[in-house]
Amino acid sequence: MRVTFWGVRGSYPVPGTATARYGGHTSCVQVDVPGKSPIILDAGTGMRALGRHLKSGPLGRGEGSVNVLLTHLHWDHIQGLPFFDPVFVPGNRLNIFARSGRGTRLNDAIAGVAGDAVFPVVFKDLPANFKFMPVKPRDDFEIEGVHITPIALNHPGTSTGFRINAGGRSVAYITDTSPFDRIRYKKTFARGVPGHLVAGDRRILARMEKDLIAGIRGCDLVIYDTTFTEDEYAQTPHWGHSTPWQAIQIARAADAKKLVLYHHSPLRSDDDLDRMLDDARQRSSDMHIEIDAARQGESLEVR
Ligand SMILES: [Zn+2]
Ligand SMILES: [Zn+2]
Repeated sequence: MRVTFWGVRGSYPVPGTATARYGGHTSCVQVDVPGKSPIILDAGTGMRALGRHLKSGPLGRGEGSVNVLLTHLHWDHIQGLPFFDPVFVPGNRLNIFARSGRGTRLNDAIAGVAGDAVFPVVFKDLPANFKFMPVKPRDDFEIEGVHITPIALNHPGTSTGFRINAGGRSVAYITDTSPFDRIRYKKTFARGVPGHLVAGDRRILARMEKDLIAGIRGCDLVIYDTTFTEDEYAQTPHWGHSTPWQAIQIARAADAKKLVLYHHSPLRSDDDLDRMLDDARQRSSDMHIEIDAARQGESLEVR
């Protein structure tokens, strides 16, 4: 299995000299399993360059399929979709897997990024064939024989992580999520005041954390939301993101082999990210877990 990072930021794109090494595009990761159609994790602005890359294959001739797994529908996870070149080639198939939320139909929400008020080609006129596949946490499914486990995450409006198992190897994509101690989303989102949890909330959070750890147990590679520094988390725990130390604790509890820091804050320069990575490695030096940070344009072979 091969994992390629096309966009590694959260929130909004940040091009420029200060972000040239880690990259400025928002969330998009390609997972290639030999002999299968590409799996794309999230459709942030990194998806544009991925589309150009894939056009050299069957997707350039209208004979290809891609399977897009969306964690959720916040902008930084869907904005690249209408700029993904294969959607303009008739015959291509895009299978879009995501959890529907709050009564919004998945196809309506996706169509919103190519609505006529905001994009010149309305969604229904895009030439490729779209198929929308709703997913549910703990309801595993297969794509061309590749096993996928959706995992509930703790984020405003919800987010869903994915574990991908193929050929005896496993990759988990866990973004966007808060830890499971101070805020329970769907219920307390945006009130901004942690500490109103009742016993029932704590039970649900404990269950979510347990399911997450079980879901990524023994993974070869875990890509995890590490948007925040410790100070930022203390100030805005209700924004639905984690710190490297919180990610390390989950990855370690799950006996993951390698952790990749991901969904970098748009506020973070390359030098800031170097320091964040160094600090994470130092704090976990006795933990038998390899740690790296996602860099746009880089590929990792999972073997
Ligand atoms: Zn995000
Ligand atoms: Zn989000």
